[in-house]
Amino acid sequence: MPFAATVLTLMPEMFPGTLGVSLAGEALARQTWSLEVKDIRDHGRGKHRAVDDTPAGGGPGMVIRADVLAEAIDAVVKPSDPRPRFLLSPRGRVLDQAFARELAAGPGVVLVCGRFEGVDERVIEARGLTELSIGDYVLSGGEVAAQVVLDSVIRLLPGVMGGEGSDIEESHEDGLLEYPHFTRPRDFEGRSIPDVLTSGDHAKIARWRRAEAEALTKSRRPDLWARKTPGKG
Ligand code: SAH
Repeated sequence: MPFAATVLTLMPEMFPGTLGVSLAGEALARQTWSLEVKDIRDHGRGKHRAVDDTPAGGGPGMVIRADVLAEAIDAVVKPSDPRPRFLLSPRGRVLDQAFARELAAGPGVVLVCGRFEGVDERVIEARGLTELSIGDYVLSGGEVAAQVVLDSVIRLLPGVMGGEGSDIEESHEDGLLEYPHFTRPRDFEGRSIPDVLTSGDHAKIARWRRAEAEALTKSRRPDLWARKTPGKG
């Protein structure tokens, strides 16, 4: 069974979007993963198929109605569906590489994209949605966030990445940022490639890369370094 993604959105025209090209797009065409896009507005109310209303208690913006969103979810997700269900939300757990790996190992994912001020709290509870964030900033809708989540997961599915193991040495895979890369030309505007990389000594190259990765992580992301080396200050 391929990895099955279902996305619920008010902007179905935004899909597959970035996921339709390059690695993810090719994998979609090969059916390594599948994408179902559900328009929440199918379940809108009245002549204008309204999906939102003013927030109870007042305040700015509009809120997606609980009944409309619940019906849209029920139309595409059966109670026995084993896939985890997420609401993209800046209040959620922040996506990281370990979580992307966890999702890639599962049967797929259901992603609900919010818009406006967000969604009625009751539908989050009633449909067992887990909030998932892509970082500490606010987007105008969950669609770009859903594509970020899916991109990070799809490239980890078996057969999607070309180069053997090119996904294991990546930044964040072992809690470190990746070492710097070099390719041709050997001399670029007076800058050369570090000698060690052209030495042919693979053990030495591995040690150099490890040291560079550690130095980069220490200086740029002390938070990651602290997690990697607890107690070492
Ligand atoms: N009023 C909300 C923000 C609404 S932004 C709040 O303060 O929490 C509109 C929609 O964009 C959200 O419902 C969510 O689906 C999406 N969104 C915004 N920022 C996001 C983020 N950092 N990660 C994931 N989704 C986000």
